[in-house]
Amino acid sequence: MAPERFFLELDPPHGAMADWPHVVIVGGGFAGLKACHVLAGQPVRVTLIDKRNFNLFQPLLYQVASGLVSEADVASPLRQMVGQAPNIQILLGEVIDIDTEAREVVFNDHRYAYDHLVLASGSGSTYFGHEEWRPLAPPMKILEHADEIRRRLLMALEEAEQTRDPERRRFLQSVVVVGAGPAGCELAGSLIELMHRAVERDFKQLDRAQCRVILLDAVDRVLPAMAANLSADAAAYLERAGVELRLNTMVAAIEPGRVLLRRPPDATGEADTGDDGLGDLEAATICWTAGVRASRLGRLLAERTGAPVDRGGRLQVEADFSLPGHPEIRAVGDLCHYAHTGDGRVLPGMAGPAVQMGGWVARDILAGLEGRRSAPFRWFDLGSMAVIGPWYAVADLRGLHVSGLAGWILWALAHLAFIPDTENRIALFSKWMWQIATRQRTALLITGRPDQHLGVDVGLERAVPPDGLSQLPGAPPSGPLNRLISTPRITAM
Ligand SMILES: Cc1cc2nc3c(=O)[nH]c(=O)nc-3n(C[C@H](O)[C@H](O)[C@H](O)COP(=O)(O)OP(=O)(O)OC[C@H]3O[C@@H](n4cnc5c(N)ncnc54)[C@H](O)[C@@H]3O)c2cc1C
Repeated sequence: MAPERFFLELDPPHGAMADWPHVVIVGGGFAGLKACHVLAGQPVRVTLIDKRNFNLFQPLLYQVASGLVSEADVASPLRQMVGQAPNIQILLGEVIDIDTEAREVVFNDHRYAYDHLVLASGSGSTYFGHEEWRPLAPPMKILEHADEIRRRLLMALEEAEQTRDPERRRFLQSVVVVGAGPAGCELAGSLIELMHRAVERDFKQLDRAQCRVILLDAVDRVLPAMAANLSADAAAYLERAGVELRLNTMVAAIEPGRVLLRRPPDATGEADTGDDGLGDLEAATICWTAGVRASRLGRLLAERTGAPVDRGGRLQVEADFSLPGHPEIRAVGDLCHYAHTGDGRVLPGMAGPAVQMGGWVARDILAGLEGRRSAPFRWFDLGSMAVIGPWYAVADLRGLHVSGLAGWILWALAHLAFIPDTENRIALFSKWMWQIATRQRTALLITGRPDQHLGVDVGLERAVPPDGLSQLPGAPPSGPLNRLISTPRITAM
């Protein structure tokens, strides 16, 4: 089948622009979008290529997963955000190759020439060589992941409401979150709050005391990248909220509905292979926030140009974000490993650095076209934050440590300032206020393929359904409650 065409015309829209240098930006996330904003209205032709037609605000994905806000509140169409600038065109497609000799990117069966290439294709999740865990424990990187986590949890609660078997009910009311970084802590805190409220108000058969959210990590504290006192505050809050912390604990394997545990290797690097008494965890909903790897364009560029990559697949760039020997190619955001800092520490894979890198590179391209040299890139560290529950966040603002309500206010203001779309800003603010006032969540919808609604797809073999259920109109031949639906439908990213 011929590939689908998403566009008809690749020439510059105005003849006057024909001689302007062509900047191709791959990826309309934090870094790519900022570069577009800087280049809008400047004497360059810009083409932004993204495999999605929207910019996603990943820091709030956990709110989509826990039904606090809906998809459109955290994503905005790229065409509306930057596509209206006369010198910017948006093309939907996945860049699959780059011919660095011919200076062309390859996507949708096209080869497309560039004068300057800005790679801002971000990062995805990794299961450290265990891709077979992915369908059993979805990551949280794209909108579909958040939808899937919400769908699995809500389906589990719906089934728990109908089951008489106390063991199975307990299983269905259990969640395991792997990874106690900011995303894992935020997700765990939000899911326990969701479950407690839902069980108290909406599910008549379920017992709040049976709701379990277990947060596990190989390290010895939550939020390991933050100051120790903030980690302790966050851990104390999570435990008060009902989250069980399993630290110093690694995933040995994930099976349908079960996480097998082991101790991390000791200081000598020896893995503990004996019976360490950690046991297994059984849960209908398992989520994975533990590993990040750079977009595959990192390794591709390393092959094409010989540029070095780090263990996470990030391109090790020069001080101006170019690849060694290729001043026309820059890598920014989560895709790059940038160590040209005063203290040699690599910049973290976060939204703040990505925005600053995208803006600096765009300004540097303009400066180069005017024959000027830019001032060297200097990262301004805005600090880091994690929201653990309603009215509760921890924030480390350049050494100023704040937790609790003050932290939450700072977190809310920072996120409202950062979210690039005004309509989303208003929608988010009103939904947060509504949730705080009423403890109601507005986006608790079960979406996805209708056939997946017929059973909790944790991959468990189920008992033969009660007589008669398989006769329901539209039911699959094996009956609605024993279908094994484990088809991974989540895009790997
Ligand atoms: C759940 C979660 C929570 C987070 N919370 C925070 C937080 O609280 N604070 C913080 O600072 N950071 C947070 N981060 C990290 C932050 O979101 C990233 O550091 C940031 O998104 C990186 O920006 P980027 O522009 O490099 O990439 P992204 O924002 O990921 O954008 C990459 C873009 O490239 C596109 N793309 C990828 N490959 C291709 C291709 N081959 N062809 C075309 N297009 C492609 C993608 O569709 C995407 O639009 C969080 C991340 C996650 C996943």
